[in-house]
Amino acid sequence: MSECHHTKVLIIGSGPAGYTAGVYASRAMLSPILIQGIEPGGQLTTTTEVENWPGDTEVQGPDLMVRMEAHAKAMGCEIIGDIVTKLEVDRRPFLAICDSGKQYTADAVILATGARAKWLGLTSEEKYKGFGVSACATCDGFFYRGQEIAVIGGGNTAVEEALFLTNFASKVTLVHRRDELRAEKILQDRLFKHPKIEPIWFHELEEVIGTDNPLGVEAIRIKSTKNGQVSEIPCKGVFVAIGHAPATELVKDVLETHNGGYIKVEPGSTKTSIPGVFAAGDLTDHIYRQAVTSAGMGCMAALDAEKFIAEND
Ligand code: NAP
Repeated sequence: MSECHHTKVLIIGSGPAGYTAGVYASRAMLSPILIQGIEPGGQLTTTTEVENWPGDTEVQGPDLMVRMEAHAKAMGCEIIGDIVTKLEVDRRPFLAICDSGKQYTADAVILATGARAKWLGLTSEEKYKGFGVSACATCDGFFYRGQEIAVIGGGNTAVEEALFLTNFASKVTLVHRRDELRAEKILQDRLFKHPKIEPIWFHELEEVIGTDNPLGVEAIRIKSTKNGQVSEIPCKGVFVAIGHAPATELVKDVLETHNGGYIKVEPGSTKTSIPGVFAAGDLTDHIYRQAVTSAGMGCMAALDAEKFIAEND
C-alpha cells in the first residue's frame, strides 16, 4: 500500500502564493506540507530581473524563489518535490495523490498552482514547439545567438522577453495585434528606445514557416488585423507571449470558476466554493497577477485556513 501522511494544511504549488502560505501556516504552528509541482518556484523561475518586488530594487526571479523556499523551510514548512496528480475534495479529510504514489490527507488545502503560458493554437506553432517556437525566452533565448527573432504579444511578458532576447538576437521583431501595448510604461519606454527591436503593429501570427528535416523555423507569416494583408518576416525563433491561463486541472470540475476558468473565491477572502479549500495567486486572480499580490493572497489563504481549522477542530 502507498505511503500516506496526514497534515493540517496541504499547500499545492510553489510560487509566491504557495511559499508565503507556507511561511504563515508554519508560524501558526500548523506544520504545513507544500507540494512543489512540475515547476518548483513557478513562473518567476523563467524570468530574469524583477524590479517590482518591494525591498529589492532589482532581484533575479530564480534567486527570489530560492529565497522564498528557504524562508518557508526555515519557518517549519515541509517542502516536497512531487506533483499532485489527483485531488479529492468531496471527502474529509481531503486527499491528494502524487505522481510518486505518495498520498497526503489534509484538514485544509491551499491551492496555489498559478498559471501557465497560453498558445495560439496554430498547427504550425505546435509543429515547431521546441524547434524554434518557444514561450520562454530565458529558457531558450541562448539558442538564437546572432539570429533574428520574433515575439508575439503586447503585454509585460512580451516586452520583457523582447528586451531580454536582444542579449542574443541580431534583431527582435515584436508583432502585436493593436498599436498600443499593455506593458508597464517603463518597459515600453525601454522597448521603443532599443535599437535592435522593431515593433510591427496591427498584425497577428498566421503561420510559422520552416523546414522539415531537420525541423527548424525560417520565417513567420503575419496578417494585418486592419486589411488582412499577409507578409513574411524571416526569423529563426518565435516567442509566443500572449498571456497566461490559470492552472486549474486538479479542481476545474469540482470548484466554481469564473472569468474564463479562474477559481472563484469569496470577495475579500480566499474561500472557494468548498469549505476548507482555499485558493491564492494566479489561479484565482485574473486582474493583478503580480508576484506581490500572489504573495499577499498566500498570506490570506494561510490565515483563512488557520481560522477554518480552529473552527472545525
Ligand atoms: P497579458 O498582460 O494578458 O498580455 C497578453 C498580450 O498578448 C496582450 O497584449 C494581448 O493583446 C496579446 N494577445 C492575447 N491573445 C492574443 C492572440 N490570440 N493573438 C495575438 N495577441 C494576443 O499577459 P502577460 O504579458 O503574460 O502578463 C500576464 C500578467 O503577468 C499581467 O498581469 C502582467 O502585468 C504580469 N506580469 C508582470 C510582470 C512584471 O511586473 N514585471 C512581468 C510579466 C508579467 P491585447 O493587448 O490586444 O489584448
